[in-house]
Amino acid sequence: MIMMNHLLTGAVIALTIKQPELMIPLAYASHFVLDSVPHYGEGKDGQEYIKTPVSWTIITIDALVSGTFLFWLVDTHHYMLLLGAVLAYMPDATWIYRFMHYRVTKRHTSRNRMSRFHERLQREYTWAYGLEFTYLIVVLSVLIGKLQHI
Ligand SMILES: [Zn+2]
Repeated sequence: MIMMNHLLTGAVIALTIKQPELMIPLAYASHFVLDSVPHYGEGKDGQEYIKTPVSWTIITIDALVSGTFLFWLVDTHHYMLLLGAVLAYMPDATWIYRFMHYRVTKRHTSRNRMSRFHERLQREYTWAYGLEFTYLIVVLSVLIGKLQHI
């Protein structure tokens, strides 16, 4: 799932669940729920998952929009939303490390039990960009609606 959808989901969870002791684990767990539903991706075949110019374009736009969103959360002092958003994305941070490691060394890193779990539940399909975009619009609408009531 794209970074922005994980971030927005975590922010919505933080806006909805005011108790940090519940929000923190739920935001983190939301990552695995979203990864287990069909979403855009080029399949799971190791770390070489960024294969086409379309993938690079989507990932670049996603990173720029996500960075802007995180900056906005900091700039507007929405720190609990920032925490929820970062937690909801956090499991994918390991893929960034693995991807960079592979690009530099041309060798895959070993995977621990958590990484194997994370990889096994992926439901990535090239045709699922519509689902990904639809979810983006829905979760963004929910976030905007909730932000108007705080
Ligand atoms: Zn993930």
